[in-house]
Amino acid sequence: MEKYDLIIIGAGPAGLSAAVYAARYKLKTLILSKSMGGMAAVAHKVCNFPSYTEIKGFDLMQKFLKQVEELKVPIIYDETVKIERTKNEFLVITKNKKYNCKKIIFAGGCERIRLKVNGEGKFLGKGVSYCATCDAAFFRNKIVCVVGGSDAALTAALLLSEYASKVYIIYRKENFFRSEPAWIELVEKEKKIETIFNEEVAEIIGKNSVEEIRLKSGKLLKTNGVFIEIGSVPETKSLDSLKVKKTDAGYIITDKNQKTNIAGLYAAGDVIDSQLKQIVTAASQGAVAAYSVYQELKREE
Ligand SMILES: Cc1cc2nc3c(=O)[nH]c(=O)nc-3n(C[C@H](O)[C@H](O)[C@H](O)COP(=O)(O)OP(=O)(O)OC[C@H]3O[C@@H](n4cnc5c(N)ncnc54)[C@H](O)[C@@H]3O)c2cc1C
Repeated sequence: MEKYDLIIIGAGPAGLSAAVYAARYKLKTLILSKSMGGMAAVAHKVCNFPSYTEIKGFDLMQKFLKQVEELKVPIIYDETVKIERTKNEFLVITKNKKYNCKKIIFAGGCERIRLKVNGEGKFLGKGVSYCATCDAAFFRNKIVCVVGGSDAALTAALLLSEYASKVYIIYRKENFFRSEPAWIELVEKEKKIETIFNEEVAEIIGKNSVEEIRLKSGKLLKTNGVFIEIGSVPETKSLDSLKVKKTDAGYIITDKNQKTNIAGLYAAGDVIDSQLKQIVTAASQGAVAAYSVYQELKREE
């Protein structure tokens, strides 16, 4: 089994930034990831990453990836199912193979929260979507609704308004208290978007695809698509056999060097307990984690 100094789990902003630093420290590094670019790659428009006034999330992550490829850090697209501690090393078990390494940077991000209503599973890919960037173009001249009230929900609604004839935002709170004022202003200006506050989706209804939704109040709303943007939970299942310290909500607790309570295990990005979950902060934490790994390996030599 080939042995690495460092395995990075996740190829989102945190993992790819860690890889850039690790490569420059000449660490023998491998990236294992389920997907390229993570959540950032599905962001419709990124307007707050320094150096770009506006860029599509996918295009930005392609640039992260290109740099990592130029630095010759290998990436294997595979899901890590389990991580075990063996003496002073780690055994990383993926769906297809096992790997050995001295240190790990865990940058697995978060996964989308399901709405858990009737019809959600049945119509997945037939009107139900968790990714407006991926699916908006299928709803040209159709009616869609976005469920949620965060920045992700508002940007999804704005993107959908470029294609759909009508976009409803359904949000259970009385205002968009969690969103950036700049996005709220754009949503309020867009004539195709209608917001329904203090409401929830109770059921998604249709025959072969979504035709309407029933709201908690009992009201029926005709729609061809339901875009679910109600947040995410940290993706830490593969760490279950290690006793990693987490918050009650499941976010990994790290120190200022991105170190977890498990020797040799570092974490960065959306998966950790942090105040601001953004591309720029994930990238920064990834860089700090790689620096800490480098320092620790040097001390151990
Ligand atoms: C719709 C939307 C719009 C957004 N817009 C912006 C924006 O405009 N500006 C901004 O700064 N931020 C934005 N964000 C937030 C930003 O995308 C995240 O903060 C950022 O992507 C976090 O980076 P990360 O590397 O921690 O995690 P992620 O980007 O989620 O990457 C995690 C990676 O880990 C992989 N992974 C997970 N588990 C495993 C496993 N077991 N094995 C292997 N691989 C695994 C995943 O496949 C993924 O590739 C947006 C998010 C969404 C959803």
